Amino acid sequence: MADKSFTFSAENLLDTEPEPFTKLDSLNSRSVWFVTCDHASNLVPKHMNNLGITSTEMNRHIGWDIGALGVAKELSKILDARLISGNYSRLIVDLNRPTSSPTFIPKTADGTPIPANINISEKEKKERTIFFHKEYHLNIEKWLDRLILEGVIPVIIAIHSFTPVFQNFRRPWHIGLLYEHDQRFVLPLRNELLLRNSNLIIGDNQPYAIRGPSDFTIPVHGQARGLPHIEIEVRQDLIEIPENQKIWAHILASALLSVIENNQPFGIINNVDRKSHIIS
Ligand SMILES: [Zn+2]
Repeated sequence: MADKSFTFSAENLLDTEPEPFTKLDSLNSRSVWFVTCDHASNLVPKHMNNLGITSTEMNRHIGWDIGALGVAKELSKILDARLISGNYSRLIVDLNRPTSSPTFIPKTADGTPIPANINISEKEKKERTIFFHKEYHLNIEKWLDRLILEGVIPVIIAIHSFTPVFQNFRRPWHIGLLYEHDQRFVLPLRNELLLRNSNLIIGDNQPYAIRGPSDFTIPVHGQARGLPHIEIEVRQDLIEIPENQKIWAHILASALLSVIENNQPFGIINNVDRKSHIIS
């Protein structure tokens, strides 16, 4: 059994602690842009005692995607996009994993054991899943349903960040563009980015690749629905401070806008089996 002092209960949240996620609507109801930031925060409810790790550990990349929220917010501002972002650490539950994934509630992260997640009870897993994961994704699903009903075909942009060094390997990419089956958006986006910034080192499904069964947000809300989408990873040392988050948001926004301007409107691909991906 996990130590009782890590047990989550919505009733034990303080008045000062936020809802599980934040939604910001677009001023323009016809805007196609839909930005997600799953790993925006490293916050843990006070009663969960930092999951048994130190604040220094929680401030590392294992707790959240450093700098990603700043980029996502700035990008949303420039694009007049909708934005949904998680308000709690990925170490409580990972919003970008299916509940069946072994890293949905990770027992270790980059070599650090997470005491609150070792020997976690089914009840605790269920409580966390409903409060942090299910509502977030149901909200995205309903939001997308509504937009499509209104005739807007959303383009989903999932913003993440990656650590510059991992297991002694210095990652050379400034950003990574991640996708799986649908390359409609990634190909023109890469071109537009390189047109403007010829020195940019873009990872092609690097430092990670999206894989349907192990990732969640893009496979479920983008790929399975046949909506245009891209996951963008930005290297953390480039976006540690707000000024640089703004610079990178502008670099991304200008290329994203050109993709929409210079291509036929992106439709919905209907050859996918949605059933297995609907959130229940
Ligand atoms: Zn991430």
